[in-house]
Amino acid sequence: RGIYRFSTAAALEETITPSVQISYTQHLINGQFVDAASGKTFPAYDPRTGEVIARVAEGDAEDINRAVAAARKAFDEGPWPKMSAYERSLIMLRFADLVDKHRGELAALESWNSGKPYEQSAKSELPSFARLFRYYAGWADKIHGLTVPADGKHHVQTLHEPIGVAGQIIPWNFPLIMFAWKVGPALACGNTIVLKSAEQTPLTALYAAKLFPRGLPPGVLNVVSGDGPSAGAALASHMDVDKIAFTGSTETGKIILELAAKSNLKQVTLELGGKSPFIVCEDAEVDKAVELAHFALFFNQGQCCCAGSRTYVHERVYDEFVEKAKARALTRVVGDPFRKGVEQGPQISSEQFEKVLGYIKSGVESSATLECGGQRFGSRGYFIQPTVFSNVQDDMLIAQDEIFGPVQSILKFKNIDEVIRRANTSRYGLAAGIFTKNIDTANTLSRALRVGTVWINCFDVFDAAIPFGGYKMSGIGREKGIYSLNNYLQVKAVVTPLKNPAWL
Ligand code: NAD
Repeated sequence: RGIYRFSTAAALEETITPSVQISYTQHLINGQFVDAASGKTFPAYDPRTGEVIARVAEGDAEDINRAVAAARKAFDEGPWPKMSAYERSLIMLRFADLVDKHRGELAALESWNSGKPYEQSAKSELPSFARLFRYYAGWADKIHGLTVPADGKHHVQTLHEPIGVAGQIIPWNFPLIMFAWKVGPALACGNTIVLKSAEQTPLTALYAAKLFPRGLPPGVLNVVSGDGPSAGAALASHMDVDKIAFTGSTETGKIILELAAKSNLKQVTLELGGKSPFIVCEDAEVDKAVELAHFALFFNQGQCCCAGSRTYVHERVYDEFVEKAKARALTRVVGDPFRKGVEQGPQISSEQFEKVLGYIKSGVESSATLECGGQRFGSRGYFIQPTVFSNVQDDMLIAQDEIFGPVQSILKFKNIDEVIRRANTSRYGLAAGIFTKNIDTANTLSRALRVGTVWINCFDVFDAAIPFGGYKMSGIGREKGIYSLNNYLQVKAVVTPLKNPAWL
């Protein structure tokens, strides 16, 4: 079926040891690293080999209680929510500088524990991480309320106040970026935080939290490691948590919403799954469209909530596109994420590895055409060959479910009305890509698609200032940009009678 460039299976047998020490494995609560209350630990893995690289404190409800108590005290007694917003902003800026200084270690740890290419971590994700904090540091002292004209007999002002204790539950596909999307705006608005990292990737959240300069008072940012049903559920249902922000699967998002409703009706934002269409129109330059569609799906081992996982191609360019998409997948550089030039590392875990292979099997059984790939890559770790299916139909499982792996599904369409209808039939509505030179087609599609982000002739552009979130079952609310501030603020109306209006 072709040769995967660069890394042979044999080369995978020799893994590069990253030059970073795993120093932080305990919970960070009230400014101190502490063991789990139960004394239990769980393993963190290297997905290149499946080997255990650290044992990490395993949080449960008791640890969440301790962390929430610290965050509650830090919020209720201050000084964080009451200190000058400018000072808060300076602390966040100093943190971003420290992130830059420790970029190599953070990137190495991120890639070691998640399998993503080191070049991607170091050159793209760490700069974005620091940028996110600088962006929200800039907002900290620009958050203010309004004066409201009301009835003329009252002076009415609105105060924009922090919500209180924010619970944040993040996934494993972008551990540091998700940390920044959640922690950045929450801190800028003066909240205190209990963050639960994903059990697959607990290491970088602890490292990053430890980097915060001393000016951050103890208890403002607490990080608990542990699994979802135990630590995560305890956080989502905690009576002293005022807000919960979650990124992960739609199934878990529903559980979070239920836990929040059944406890104290804490406010909820959810960033969930997707099955994003990438639409290649008839006027597309095929070579460029192939490259962008390839990136839209295969980036981060296909483990992106917004992956362009339904590649709709106009019938006029379809055959050429399929041939070239297959050729591109066959030259994708798969291998040890610490080797230079590697584009694709392993999937995150044996569970995800099995799940993705299961979807590939279902694609074959449902009579989509397997153009290339379809097998594990190498003999150990969780590598999967870049896989391309053509002749995919909308009712196939591979066209409906979030595969979260390096599996491209190509579907044929005849006209714009048809592709709008088909793209919108998904239960998800996170993002879409459009590839066309025709401004009218781009405008029609971008308005008709029921999704939170539309990328025209580009994909995965994630500046800190651009909001991100989903329609339909892809979520509730928006993160990043100015929109994320609302997630972490309460509005208070303050009304005073005007006894002697100036004009009387
Ligand atoms: P998940 O939704 O189970 O996990 C995400 C986070 O939620 C983790 O921190 C986890 O510990 C926590 N969690 C799990 N169950 C919980 C519960 N009952 N209460 C509170 N918190 C809970 O995702 P997963 O099992 O790691 O991955 C499964 C699928 O989810 C993937 O195959 C993929 O399709 C999707 N996913 C989507 C995203 C995204 O960014 N949208 C990220 C990761 C996974």
